[in-house]
Amino acid sequence: MINVILFGPPGSGKGTQALKISKSHGLIHLSTGDILRKAIANKTPLGIKAKEFMDKGILVPDEDIAQMVINAVDRNAGAKGFIFDGFPRNVFQARFLDRMLEERNTSIDYLIALEVDHDELIKRLLNRSKIEGRTDDNPEVIKNRIKVYFDQTVPVMDYYKSQGKLYPVNGIGTIEEVNERIYKILKKVK
Ligand code: AMP
Repeated sequence: MINVILFGPPGSGKGTQALKISKSHGLIHLSTGDILRKAIANKTPLGIKAKEFMDKGILVPDEDIAQMVINAVDRNAGAKGFIFDGFPRNVFQARFLDRMLEERNTSIDYLIALEVDHDELIKRLLNRSKIEGRTDDNPEVIKNRIKVYFDQTVPVMDYYKSQGKLYPVNGIGTIEEVNERIYKILKKVK
């Protein structure tokens, strides 16, 4: 199995890149944000609960995310691997993920961290709000999401760095340019 974490701040292009890699490398794209948005659209109990957190730009409780990820992974038992997008969002979730994969005799191979500077992120997020109409892409909520990223999510990078699995990638450029940089890493290590 190959298991990849696509990591980066909101607006870094992780979703777009994760989708491309999932197709080219035959991996299951597991986006916790997408699963939550689907749950909201379907008005499930999880969706109704999660919406309150998401609308504020803060993290949905770990136990809800953990259960959701277990379900998604086990639904795809036998897959060639996973590309995790938007997860893990804090060190608790990273430890949980490692344990869960270990129980399934596999592990994370790479954390690919997209690097995009702050001004560019804000520009992209505001632009996306016009195109996709996401309710959490407004200036106040964007500020919270970026703060949560730096306070809670960035430590996940150190966690995987200490395991020798951190691969930083310049996230500025066209979708194809960034994609090419990621491909090179996946090739180099495989
Ligand atoms: P995303 O689409 O990954 O930017 O996620 C949108 C929102 O969903 C986040 O701001 C969080 O409120 C919530 N969310 C997504 N993934 C997670 C996660 N792994 N842990 C907690 N909350 C999450």
